[in-house]
Amino acid sequence: MYTYNDLRKNVCSACRKGVEWGVIGRSSCGRNIIYFHLGPKKGKQIIIQGGIHAREWVTALLVTAQVDFLRKEKFPIGVYFLPMTNPDGCDLCQLGAEAVGEYAQFVREINGSDDFSLWKANARGVDLNCNFDARFGKGKGNVTRPAPASYIGAKKHSEAETRALVDFTLRINPCMTVSYHALGREVYYEFFQTGDKLLRDRSIATRVSEYLGYRLVHGDLGSAGGYKDYCISALGIPALTIEIIGEDKTHPLSNADLKGEENNLWIPLILTNLLASL
Ligand SMILES: [Zn+2]
Repeated sequence: MYTYNDLRKNVCSACRKGVEWGVIGRSSCGRNIIYFHLGPKKGKQIIIQGGIHAREWVTALLVTAQVDFLRKEKFPIGVYFLPMTNPDGCDLCQLGAEAVGEYAQFVREINGSDDFSLWKANARGVDLNCNFDARFGKGKGNVTRPAPASYIGAKKHSEAETRALVDFTLRINPCMTVSYHALGREVYYEFFQTGDKLLRDRSIATRVSEYLGYRLVHGDLGSAGGYKDYCISALGIPALTIEIIGEDKTHPLSNADLKGEENNLWIPLILTNLLASL
């Protein structure tokens, strides 16, 4: 388990330890989308986000753990950590329909059962990682009505969570972003970039995949509307999707499935050192 309330408790403890935190916006149900920040506030920044897919809430636990693990390290550039960009979905998945208030009946109808452990979308049945302005609606497997996964939304950036993340990203103007997902132990970095940008992004992704011992995946593979896709196509920056946890495990995942993923705790520091020199 790692719910929104657990994240709030981590905010309190991070606050006591002097870690800066804040809110980038609110979800459909009014939950805060929380960030932590480490390193210098001026100059280059990177953004690391997790928990955008509800059933992958273990990534929220991982990103929060990165903050605690690295809080005393010296970062050459700043890092914003957004552990749970889909807090309604993460709670729905773990706590059931009552966690999404006015949307409870709606999600029951879409889901067809009271077991939400495989749910990926937000409380409105929109898959946030298909809702960004990046070849919107052209993804393999996209669907056009509310569903537990893969629904693109009524229009691009239709969701409160998507808009919060886009507005924050444009304001911070990061030099790189990382999106944590599960599972597969893979690193994705491509979305129709070419030339020097493709070479740059491949070299960063190669370093990460080698460090983690994960498979480097080439090509866009029919992806569209994802946060990584948006960062690459709209901002022209390197953006990775890191899929943690091997395929010997299956959804629904548990806290214990993070065992063996500890190398990820160092990823923010490794990336900031790499990006500082670019
Ligand atoms: Zn995912």
